Amino acid sequence: MPSISDPIISIKGLGKKTSDRLNQLGIHTLEHLVFHLPSRYQDKTSITSLSDTSLNDEILIEATIDRIEVIPSRQRQLLCYLSDNQNHRILLRFFHFTQYQKQGLIRGETMQCFGEIKIGRKGFEMHHPEYRIITQNQSPLLEPTLTPIYPLCSGISQNKMKQWVNYSLEVLKTSQLDDYFEKITQQSMPSLKSSLMLLHHPEKDEDLSAIESFKHVSQQRLIIEELATHQLSLLKTKKARKGKKTNAFILKNTLSNKLLNSLDFKLTNAQSHCIQEINDDLASSEPMLRLLQGDVGSGKTIVAVFALIQAVENNFQAAIMAPTEILARQHLQNFTHYLESLNIQIAYLSGSQNTQERMEQLSLVESGKAKVVIGTHALFQESVSFKNLSLVIIDEQHKFGVHQRLSLTKKANHTPHQLVMTATPIPRSLTMSAYADLDTSIIDELPPGRQKVETIALNNARRDELITKIRKISDEGRQIYWVCTLIEESEALRAESAEKTFNYLKDHLADLTVVLIHGRLTKQEKEGIMKDFENGQINLLVATTVIEVGVNVPNASLMIVENAERLGLAQLHQLRGRVGRGSEKSICILMYQSPLSNNARERLDILRQSNDGFMIAQKDLELRGPGEILGTQQTGIASMKIANIVRDAYLLKEAGYYSSKMLEANLDSQNALINRWIDEEKTDYFDA
Ligand code: ADP
Ligand code: MG
Repeated sequence: MPSISDPIISIKGLGKKTSDRLNQLGIHTLEHLVFHLPSRYQDKTSITSLSDTSLNDEILIEATIDRIEVIPSRQRQLLCYLSDNQNHRILLRFFHFTQYQKQGLIRGETMQCFGEIKIGRKGFEMHHPEYRIITQNQSPLLEPTLTPIYPLCSGISQNKMKQWVNYSLEVLKTSQLDDYFEKITQQSMPSLKSSLMLLHHPEKDEDLSAIESFKHVSQQRLIIEELATHQLSLLKTKKARKGKKTNAFILKNTLSNKLLNSLDFKLTNAQSHCIQEINDDLASSEPMLRLLQGDVGSGKTIVAVFALIQAVENNFQAAIMAPTEILARQHLQNFTHYLESLNIQIAYLSGSQNTQERMEQLSLVESGKAKVVIGTHALFQESVSFKNLSLVIIDEQHKFGVHQRLSLTKKANHTPHQLVMTATPIPRSLTMSAYADLDTSIIDELPPGRQKVETIALNNARRDELITKIRKISDEGRQIYWVCTLIEESEALRAESAEKTFNYLKDHLADLTVVLIHGRLTKQEKEGIMKDFENGQINLLVATTVIEVGVNVPNASLMIVENAERLGLAQLHQLRGRVGRGSEKSICILMYQSPLSNNARERLDILRQSNDGFMIAQKDLELRGPGEILGTQQTGIASMKIANIVRDAYLLKEAGYYSSKMLEANLDSQNALINRWIDEEKTDYFDA
C-alpha cells in the first residue's frame, strides 16, 4: 500500500534525476506534492459559443473544419478555418507544424480547441491552441473540474506534474492526513484534506473568481494555518527567551531626570511612551527584546540614550552598535555631549583604529571603566570582552533581518536586554508575521516644527539647471548633499563615477567648497570631511550612499539624488531623511534617467506625494515584496507555500489568534505543524 509519506522516487517512472529536481522545489514526499498547489486554473468545464466571446478570453470551443491552407512564404504557416454549429467562424494559426499534424486536420472533422481569443484581419483567431479531433475518437478536452496549472522548474512538464500530483491525491484519498489545525479551530473551517482536494480540482460550480483572488474558504483556511504556524515558531522562540533570566535593572531615575532637564527640547509624547515601555522591560528579569520603530528623524537616538542610562545607573555596561563608521562617530559625538555632564565614561571601537587606540579602548571596556561602549561591528569581535554587558542597542538596523544581529549578543554572561532600532518603519503586516517574537515600540509622531521635505523629480537631461539652484541655497547659508547612486560592481567603480560628478560640479561651482566623500577614503579622511560639513565649512558634499543612514546635519536643506529610479522606496526615503532635520524648508530632488518604467514612475510619484515613512514602507512592500525588504536571510516569510503577506494581510489577525492557540497545544502537534509548513533549511533564524 503506498503511503502519503512515501518519497517521490516511489512513483513509477519518476527517476533519480527528476527526484533531485523536484527536491529543489521543496518536494520530497507524496505529501509535499499534495501541498504543491496550482498557481492558476484553466476553465475547460464548458464549451463556449463563439458568439459569446471577446478578445483575450481563454475558452474551450467546438467547431468543424471548413478548409486548410498552408501559406508558403519564408515564414510558413498552417491555417485552419473552422465554423461552429451557429456558423460563427474562427481561424487557427500554426507557425510551426509537422506534416503529420497537417494530415490529421481534414475538412469536415470536428474538433475541440482551447486557447486565447485573438483578433486577426478576418475576425477571431487562436494561435497554437491545444486541440483534439473528437470525430477521430481523440479524448475530448472537456473536463469535469477546472484544470490546475502548477508552478514548475526546468526539466519538468506541466503534464508530468499533473500526473504525479493526481497520483498523490489518489493516495491521499485512502490515507490519513493529520489535521492538527482542525482541532484548534474546532472544525469551524473546511478540513485540510477537503481543502487540498478542492484546490487541486475545483468543481465547475465553485466560485472561480474567489479562487483566483485567493479568497476561497479552502484557501483562507490553508493561508491562516500557514501564517499561524510561522507565527507559532516565532512565539516559541519568544517563549524560550522569556524563560531565561537576566539582570533586572532598578529604576532610580536620578540620571534620567538630570538628562531630561539638560535637553534643549521637550520629548514628544511618543518618545516618552517608548521610554516608558523600555524601562518596564529593563526592570524585569526576563531579557528584553524590543524593536523600536520610528520614521526618519522621529528622534530614536535620545530614546536609546535614556535606556543606556538605566544600565549605567545600575552599574552595568551598555553597548550601542551603529551600521557605519560615520554614524558610530556621530553617536560618539552626540553621546559625549549628553553623557559628559553626567560623568559617564564612553569607549569607542571601530574597525580602523590603530593598535594603540584600540588597546586603550579595549582595556576601558574590559575593566568596566567605560560604562557605555559605542562602535561598529567591531564591538562584537572576539578580542572584545566586556566586564558586565547588560544592554545591547543596535541602531539603524537597515535591512530588517534583525534576527541575525541578535546572535551577536553572546558577549554577555547573561542574555542581555536588547533594543533594535530600525532605520525606517516596517510595514505592520511584516511586524505581525516576521517579527512576532519581538515586542515593538513605535514613535508615531515627529518632533514639532518639522516641515515636509518638498520632493521634485527631475530628468537627468536638466542637470545643468541644478547649478543655479545649488548656488542659491548656498548663498542663503545652507548646505547641500549630492548623492551618486550608480550601482557599480565595486566600491572602486562607485568612487570613480562619483569622482566624475564631483569634477563636473567643482568646475561649475568654482566659488563654492565642494568636497567628495566615499567608502574608499580612510577613516580619518571621512571623519575630517564629515566634521567640516557639520561645521558648515563645506557647501556641497558629493557622496556615495555612505551617508545614507542616520547622518544628522540640520543645516543641510537640499538633497539631490542621482539615478533615483534605481533605488527602492525605503532607501530613497532614508536618503531624503538627511534633510528636513532643522526647522528650515528643505528640498529633495530625485534625478532620473528617462525613459522611466511604470514601476519606477510610480515609486517616484509616491515619494513626491508622501513623507510618511510608514506609508512608504507599505508601498515598498507591495511593489517589491517581502523578500527584497527582509533581506536574504529571512526567506521563510518570503517563500511560503500558499500565503502571501501582502495579499493576505487581512488574515494576519486571525492567524495571530490561532497561533496563540497553537502555542497551548501539545509539543507533538506543534512540531508536526512546523514540519509541515516550514522548510527546515530556511529556519536557521529561529535559533537566534
Ligand atoms: P532618527 O529617529 O532618524 O534616528 P535622531 O534621533 O537622529 O532621529 O533625531 C533627529 C533630530 O531631532 C536630532 O537633531 C535630535 O536632536 C532632534 N530631536 C529628537 N527628539 C526631539 C524632540 N522631542 N524635539 C525636538 N527635536 C528632537
Ligand atoms: Mg538615527
